[in-house]
Amino acid sequence: MSLSLTIHGAAQTVTGSCIELRAGKSRVLLDCGMFQGSRSLEALNHEPLAFEAPSIDAVILSHAHIDHSGLLPRLAAQGFKGAIWCTGETTDLLEFMLADAGRIQEYEAERRNRRRDRAGEDPFQPIYTERDALAAWRMARPVALGEWFEPAEGFRVRLWNAGHILGAASIEVEAGGVRLLYSGDVGPDNKAFHPDPTSPAGFDYVICESTYGDRARQRVSIEERRRLLEMEIVEARARGGNLVIPAFALERTQELLLDIAELSRSGRIGHAMVFVDSPLASRATTVFGKYAGQLEDTGGRNVFADPAIHYTNDVLESMRLNTMSGAIILSASGMCEAGRIRHHLFYNLPRRDSTILFVGFQAEGSLGRVILDGAQRVRISGRDVRVRAQIRRIESYSAHADQSELLDWITERGPIAGGLFLDHGEKGAIAALQELAQTRKLAPAVIVPEIGESYELSAGQPARRVRTGREDLRPALGSDWQNDCTDLALNLKRRLARIRDSAARQKAIEDMRAVLDSYESFRARKHDRAAK
Ligand SMILES: [Zn+2]
Repeated sequence: MSLSLTIHGAAQTVTGSCIELRAGKSRVLLDCGMFQGSRSLEALNHEPLAFEAPSIDAVILSHAHIDHSGLLPRLAAQGFKGAIWCTGETTDLLEFMLADAGRIQEYEAERRNRRRDRAGEDPFQPIYTERDALAAWRMARPVALGEWFEPAEGFRVRLWNAGHILGAASIEVEAGGVRLLYSGDVGPDNKAFHPDPTSPAGFDYVICESTYGDRARQRVSIEERRRLLEMEIVEARARGGNLVIPAFALERTQELLLDIAELSRSGRIGHAMVFVDSPLASRATTVFGKYAGQLEDTGGRNVFADPAIHYTNDVLESMRLNTMSGAIILSASGMCEAGRIRHHLFYNLPRRDSTILFVGFQAEGSLGRVILDGAQRVRISGRDVRVRAQIRRIESYSAHADQSELLDWITERGPIAGGLFLDHGEKGAIAALQELAQTRKLAPAVIVPEIGESYELSAGQPARRVRTGREDLRPALGSDWQNDCTDLALNLKRRLARIRDSAARQKAIEDMRAVLDSYESFRARKHDRAAK
């Protein structure tokens, strides 16, 4: 008896989570996530699935984040007929998360096709549509934490609280005589709303995420963090303009609302006008409202219904915020790459009396990161925008365990008889966690899998690799040219300024032009030859 495991995503990268398990004739997926980030990673979403969709019997979904759930509509559209097992909270969130992802795919395809149409090229197909997304959502099958269920013949599964976002679970699997635990995304200790992560102990194999495997975070209590937010709000009000907070629609927005509602209720921020201006954030908040009674740290109140908080209904209402002063505006996307946050930045970045407060991770190359890195001007929807607003940051909001919390979580799952797999992390983060897990002997073997690899797992035995990973993906998982290009462009002016005089700087610019020209003339020559 054995269990075979194949990694289809989130190996040495943080998106595209998808693990295939096979026992006997049954096949089950743990998550079916979308790749996000660099263009070469996103291109993987368009590749044919690595398995026949109709051959999959069931999906067990850890949580509603798109990097774990975002390819479910594609799986369903290609003939998957089974159930998607997840918690009730995840089921409710999934409706809005998948529909939103479907609309983004359709919008993106439309945008590309306008350009392709002009160039007379074939139309670009969206990965899936909103309709596909809702069809997939209807396959969701809610199940309570801690309750055994049988998603496919020979598989017994239970879900455990992962403390990451509303509804997030770790997945315990018994199949092929093997006991396995998949962490999903693990939350930090003392997270607002949710109890600390918990799961049983004693497994043959544990698969653990490694997002912050190389990072130690300062321990900040909810009250200490709330005090930081209070200071930012009070100072922003004193400046007189608006306080614009780019925030992820799911979980971060609601954590901010909790803190703002408590500050407002206790009179610490005076009479605050708070606007949630993101349709997805408003919808996700209704799900939090539905489960308000079971959320921790709310004092049993539905904090999202606080009279200080307004949810904008339509674009007109959203645009009316442009003429305001003294408002607190929460909007998405969290990294300022899309959505209504961009128009709030357009109106507030040039205002000296406004404040932009970052409370979440800003990936390299995102607009949020460019602003945080001190840009004087940015481009928003093709227009040049001066940055005069105060740029501020609070780093103590997090939905992920840090290095020591991950190590504690793994230690508490022991003894691990067969091996520990580390997935869902950049290379550096995984390497740091791997070294510590090995020194502390948390498992007989610590495995860092690659996308495409398969392993044979047997109870109490070391994992046996039976198929190697995809070599062609290695460059995509490193820093690709898009990231390198952003990095070069961001630092170009500073580096030129360091050259001794303006004549030498001019010469450096000419040299760089010559290098680029040489590649273009190479292409032109190739083109000529091809035409002959
Ligand atoms: Zn997540």
